[in-house]
Amino acid sequence: SSAEPTDWLERDQKVVAQSPYAPPLVLEKGRRCEVWDVHGRRFLDFESGQFCMSTGHSHPRIAQVAGEQAAILMQIGNRFTNPARILLAERLADLAPDPLAMSFFCSTGSEANETALRIAKLVTGRFEVLAQARGYHGRTASAYGASSSARRMRRGAGPQPPGIGFISPPYTYRCPFTCGTCDLSCWKHSIEMVDRATSGEPAAVIVEFVLGAGGVIPVPPDWAKAVRQFCDERDALLIADEALTGLGRTGRWFAFEHAGIVPDIVVISKALGGGVPTAAIITTGAVAEAALQRGFIQAASHQGDPFQCAVALANLDVIQEEDLVRNAERMGQRLADGLQRLATRHQIVGEARGLGLIAGLEIIDGVEEAPELAAVVSLACLERGLIVGGLRPGIREGNTLRFAPPLTVTAAEIDEALTITEAALVAVDA
Ligand code: PMP
Repeated sequence: SSAEPTDWLERDQKVVAQSPYAPPLVLEKGRRCEVWDVHGRRFLDFESGQFCMSTGHSHPRIAQVAGEQAAILMQIGNRFTNPARILLAERLADLAPDPLAMSFFCSTGSEANETALRIAKLVTGRFEVLAQARGYHGRTASAYGASSSARRMRRGAGPQPPGIGFISPPYTYRCPFTCGTCDLSCWKHSIEMVDRATSGEPAAVIVEFVLGAGGVIPVPPDWAKAVRQFCDERDALLIADEALTGLGRTGRWFAFEHAGIVPDIVVISKALGGGVPTAAIITTGAVAEAALQRGFIQAASHQGDPFQCAVALANLDVIQEEDLVRNAERMGQRLADGLQRLATRHQIVGEARGLGLIAGLEIIDGVEEAPELAAVVSLACLERGLIVGGLRPGIREGNTLRFAPPLTVTAAEIDEALTITEAALVAVDA
């Protein structure tokens, strides 16, 4: 531990197995929207620790509660309940619209989606699932299976679960049906295709209301309403995967609220735990009861631990007390306006899009998706002190740079990020 700062990367490569496109950064501390590496270089974190740090890095309130709870009771296994878990479940029931009122807890988004799909299958007695093309739901078997955007990550996983139907996302920028005016042709076409390939009676439809890994594609309200209606007609459960979008990021507590619909199961993870791996699915009393009656058992080692829940509660307190959902809406607008300006000025930007503080710049070469060029822009941003997400070279839809700062972000930080992005685009475009 007496290493010179220059040693870290070399040592990392000897003992940590990692993906080939990990940027060469050794980060050691953070505060709000900023992080610093071991050389003292400062970066704006417009990825929010991969969406986990919505309340910003090292929030003093969260640090304090984490310390206090660690000294009282961290873990008691999954057979016992605890006050923090009860308070957190009550808070989630308050935040989620009726009739969503019952929570199941676990630790990660993958695990929560796996649980949501399992509950849907158990409750409906069916096994087929519809998911969006370009969707991403995680790295466990069913979550993988429902993740069309995880093709490369699935390598080595063997045969995929049967009965998954993929529906086209409403991706207006590259819509093959109509241009500009969405008449839901993609939805109608998808359902025709899926009805030919499956029984037409799925257990669930799992949806990201802003597709994240698939290129930051917000779902138009009418598309969301069509999915809700489809689920009602077919007695299927609608699962909202709000791993990225939940708890204020889009300027509402949940992204589905923009469409005025209510899903049957909501998955929240990343931003819930304020940095501690914490996830929940929130569902209706009827679904929870049916699942339990049919013998649903979760039995995870970390399932609403006192430590997870106390920190999550403090994190939600911060979001509420600092009015961060409203800040996300306001700063999201500032970010959107700025990115829009960049899109009009730079040839290699195909489109700027997003919802609140999840925004994307689609990088193109001519009209083609340009993931390698996007990686170059991303690196140019990093060199200038800005961390952006969405970097997935070699994957066609990895051509959209993702901007998702903590919800605490200030106007000055948004403007600084936009200035850096512009400089990076100029450098690359030149
Ligand atoms: N759902 C979505 C929409 C995600 O973006 C992710 C992760 N990026 C997951 C699920 C999986 O979450 P985790 O990595 O916590 O398992």
